[in-house]
Amino acid sequence: EVRRVTRALLSVSDKTGLVEFAAALAARGIALVSTGGTRKTLVDAGLTVADVSDVTGFPEMMDGRVKTLHPAVHGGLLAVRSNPEHQAAMLAHGIGPIDLLVVNLYPFEATVAKGAAYDDCIENIDIGGPAMIRAAAKNHDDVAVVVEPDDYAAVLTDLEAHDGATTLTLRRRLAQKAYARTAAYDAAISNWLAGQLGETAPAFRALGGALAEPMRYGENPHQWAAFYRTPEQRPGVSTARQLQGKQLSYNNINDTDAAFECVAEFDPARTAAVVIVKHANPCGVAEGSSLLDAYEKALACDPVSAFGGIVALNRRLDAEAARKIVEIFTEVIIAPEASEEAVAIVAAKKNLRLLVTGGLPDPRAGGLALRTVAGGFLAQARDSAVIDDMSLKVVTKRAPTAAELADLKFAFRVAKHVKSNAIVYAKGGATVGIGAGQMSRVDSSRIAAWKAAEAAKTAGLPETLAKGSVVASDAFFPFADGLLAAAEAGATAVIQPGGSMRDDEVIKAADEAGLAMVFTGHRHFRH
Ligand code: 5GP
Repeated sequence: EVRRVTRALLSVSDKTGLVEFAAALAARGIALVSTGGTRKTLVDAGLTVADVSDVTGFPEMMDGRVKTLHPAVHGGLLAVRSNPEHQAAMLAHGIGPIDLLVVNLYPFEATVAKGAAYDDCIENIDIGGPAMIRAAAKNHDDVAVVVEPDDYAAVLTDLEAHDGATTLTLRRRLAQKAYARTAAYDAAISNWLAGQLGETAPAFRALGGALAEPMRYGENPHQWAAFYRTPEQRPGVSTARQLQGKQLSYNNINDTDAAFECVAEFDPARTAAVVIVKHANPCGVAEGSSLLDAYEKALACDPVSAFGGIVALNRRLDAEAARKIVEIFTEVIIAPEASEEAVAIVAAKKNLRLLVTGGLPDPRAGGLALRTVAGGFLAQARDSAVIDDMSLKVVTKRAPTAAELADLKFAFRVAKHVKSNAIVYAKGGATVGIGAGQMSRVDSSRIAAWKAAEAAKTAGLPETLAKGSVVASDAFFPFADGLLAAAEAGATAVIQPGGSMRDDEVIKAADEAGLAMVFTGHRHFRH
């Protein structure tokens, strides 16, 4: 099951590591064949390389669209070496075997990503490359196929260990990778075309959006998706530099945006802050004396949900915080910057994406928020209201203490970023229970209280985390019941917009329960 390599065909767009690899092959006495650009690179480096045109008897033609599409190439890749009829056909037609194929494709994805014109994108659809890759991969019983420079070393190791031959184990693994590559390549082309055809594309063009990246799929695998960038340059996920990790998915981008917009509400000059997001809702938010302190407090709010979450930080990621964050499975970390040491710590988790943005967006900035409805779309101004700018009104007999007031502001700041109906319990600059996205405010209150009790259990604490907390509601309590549920759970103070027909009733209930309550006059619905 080892196969000696006598002749290799190299045809690569990305020429990284090419010369060293080809030289090592030549040193083993392997004959080399190449297409135009690849051959020129190798010949310039002093190697002897046959021209694929001499193999096919045809020149490269039609702007390179037809270079290797010929039986002399495909026969050499597809012939089953142990099949006498295949051998006879090779002999009859003067076809030589190709035992190693080294191809990487025209950079279609990169061409689309840089916003190239339609025709340029079309010209960057590789045809001969995928055809050869698929042929060689089908015939992996006899042929090894390499589709990225990362695998050059593995091939050389195999050749070295087996006296110039490759093993079936390696050829099979390479074949699997080869089909994964051609599948992803065709998916990228199909996504891009769908984007060109799709109903949404003209709308985004009208907004000045440029296609930043075709994605493998949308919220679910059966939905096509693409990421558009508008000229608006708020620091965030659209302007971030990805330092490491897998490609971001649609859901990653959506969640990372939610996390970073939320953490940007916390002025880094005043406090360190951390937000952990799952499914576009925060599951833990905290201020702290350091990022590590804030992260630990945020994590304690809901450690179960934080698994596989997105972590956003409002200051330069440092080593201490990074070390703690990588202890559990995390999808994305986003921060304005990251220290060298922190980057090295995160590097140990190969798939974890680390994004740096260079700054925090201004939460007060204007801009558009969009969503589609059947046959149209809704546009509105972003919710740029910030608690620090609101005139707060104490409506109960008891005014909040200074500590309660700080937590009330904190909780309302967070509630803005929780899907409605939003109820947020907070204590000591950290969320302790979050109820999100319920159709009834009472249910959100109950869920938040239940989560505070669960988090206490997980931490082995005797009392619910809601004990002695404060509570924020993104919109007014229409009845006293939601408020009383919060008091029952242990909250001592409440912040809410006010403005209900029954405000008097709600205020009376708060007084009777000994709660302090503050009205903000601003609602933070978020759907
Ligand atoms: P070179 O730089 O050697 O001129 O071209 C290398 C690129 O050509 C590789 O990315 C390879 O996939 C691609 N390629 C090889 N044969 C063909 C072909 O017959 N048609 C097209 N469109 N591309 C090819």
